[in-house]
Order: sequence, then structure tokens, then C-alpha cells
Amino acid sequence: MSKDYYQILGVEKKATKEDIKKAFRTLAHKYHPDKKGGDEAKFKEVSEAYTVLSDDKKRAEYDSYGRVFSGGGGAGGAEGFDFSGFGGQNGVEFDIDLNDIFGGFNDIFGGGGRSHRGRDISIDIELSFKESIFGVTRKVLITKDSTCERCTGSGAEPNTKTKTCATCNGKGQVVESRRSPFGVFSVSTTCQTCKGRRVVPEKPCTMCRGQGVERKEEEITVQVPAGIDSGQVIRMGGLGEAVSAGGPGDLYVKVHVRPDRKFRKEGYNIVTDLPVKITDALIGSEYKLDTLDGEVTINVPPLRSTDEILRVKGKGVPMDRSKRGDLLIRVKVEFPQKLSKEAKELLEKLKKEGI
Ligand SMILES: [Zn+2]
Ligand SMILES: [Zn+2]
Repeated sequence: MSKDYYQILGVEKKATKEDIKKAFRTLAHKYHPDKKGGDEAKFKEVSEAYTVLSDDKKRAEYDSYGRVFSGGGGAGGAEGFDFSGFGGQNGVEFDIDLNDIFGGFNDIFGGGGRSHRGRDISIDIELSFKESIFGVTRKVLITKDSTCERCTGSGAEPNTKTKTCATCNGKGQVVESRRSPFGVFSVSTTCQTCKGRRVVPEKPCTMCRGQGVERKEEEITVQVPAGIDSGQVIRMGGLGEAVSAGGPGDLYVKVHVRPDRKFRKEGYNIVTDLPVKITDALIGSEYKLDTLDGEVTINVPPLRSTDEILRVKGKGVPMDRSKRGDLLIRVKVEFPQKLSKEAKELLEKLKKEGI
């Protein structure tokens, strides 16, 4: 029994070409194996359904017979797709036209180069609270596939020539026949000899042995912007793994901020507690206070109660080059642990005063 291509794409039997293309776009985006949470099996399935339903002739055959007989023109260049199991007659040999699928990819992903991209790398860094507020430059060492410095990725020894790849005759792609229980299919894949470059070096680079990439430890400078929050991710385009004949992946730096004993962040403000003696809370006093900008002297006005806020303007989280939020100082009135005889007598007097 054939698969229900309409169900796979989530469209009705009478769906228009436009509906089918739209459904495929959405699903291809969702399941693309390059994406986080992608699903290769599902991606292949929707690609297969799209191949058939987007082609009038194939769709008509599928609608009438529940399977497809017609072959296509030359195979396209979708690397890594294995269409074994594609509905065809047992023992019948035919080509699958991947051009329309591949065209779809170009359409959707802007150039079809994505399947040749290097892997993304994710790392974690830990920052102090102060570093998260003001930003910091952090150097990290990452072991990854990088473009070979000696040959700048060409795979050829400097000042030597390249020649046309004999494996693929300079096409960069090879057509492979694959046998499956349903028939034999021709599928184009990237030529492994030249890695799709179409040429091979006459003398391979001695550093990377012609690979164009070398695995090495690289120091990367991460500029952490001011005001970053724990859990935020900095994307550094092109600093992921390099590949032969293709663009590099990206580097993702996830930030973890160590909680601070004294300070916490509330929006663009920094909040801290200030223990104030009960007498100072009543008649006012000056306090010295450590802040992220160094020690400051705070005037605690008279008659402050617990949780009242004293605001120091412009000592909070940077918003841009010139503006910052505020430092909010929360008064915490402290009661004495014990009272001397004299203190008690004085308090008795205050009591008579009605305080
Ligand atoms: Zn090299
Ligand atoms: Zn080749």
C-alpha cells in the first residue's frame, strides 16, 4: 500500500499547486535536518510527497493508481537524500527527477548551499554579575575544524596548480545508482574526491593533506554586551566548524550569570539592600555603600522605614552609550539584639514623648 502523500503534507485531495507548495514550505522548514529539532525521516517523507504532488503528471498517476510510473529528466544535486522506498514498480529502473525538489530548496533556503554548511557549535560561558552589567571581552579556546591556513581552504599546496577532478569529470557531483526493493534509482551526491570543488590539487596541501580544513584549537574573542541576562545566547556567525567547499557553521555562546550576594537586576535597575540602624532610620545619617561603580556615600534621610527605596540615578544597567538605569537602595531597618540599661532608660523617655 502506498503512502498517503496528501495526508503527509496535510492538504486535501483537491489542493491547488499553490496549497501544496505552501504546505511543503512550512513542513520543510519545520523538519529540515540542519535545523534544531529537525527530523530527517519526516523531511524525506514530505520531500517525497512534494515531488509527486507538485508534478501534474506524477500527481495524476498517483491519483489514479496510487503510485507513480513516470521517470524524470536528469537528477538534481540534493545531497544526502535517499529515496529508496519511493513508490515504483518492482524491478523497474527509472530516475527520480529531483530538480523540482531542489528548485524548491533554492526557493526556500536561498541558494541550496545549506547542505554544505559546517556544523554549528554551542558553548557556555559563566560571568560574574558585574561582567553581565557592564559587558566583558572573554577569550575562549575551541577545538574545531577550521579553514586550513596554509592553503586557505583550497586543499592545494601554495603556488601549485589544480586539475579537473577525474572522479566527477569536473561536475562536483556524482550520480549513484541505488537499489531498493522497489527499483533502482539514480541519485546525485557531492563528489567525495573533490568534495564538490570540481577540481583537485596537483599537489595536496601538506598541512591538511588536501582536506582544506584542519582540526585545531582556536582562540575566539567573545564580546559580551552590557546588560546581558542569564540564559541569553550570543550568535557569532561563521565561527562554527569549517567544511571543505562550503560555508562555516555558526558559534552560539550561552551566557550564565553567577548570582550576586549583594546585587540583583530588575529591568534596567540594580537593586541592593542597606541595613540601617533604628536610630539612623529615625533621625537620618550618612552611609558608605559598595556599588558596582565603587564606594559611594548615601544620605539616609530621617524617618525611613523598612523597604523604602533610596534612588541613585544613573548607576544601574547601561541602556546605551550614555544612559543607564538607576541603583535602588532598599532600606532594611535593623533592631538591636539586646538593650543596655541606659538605652532602656532613654527609650522609656522616648515612650513618654509618644514615640
Ligand atoms: Zn591546507
Ligand atoms: Zn570530483
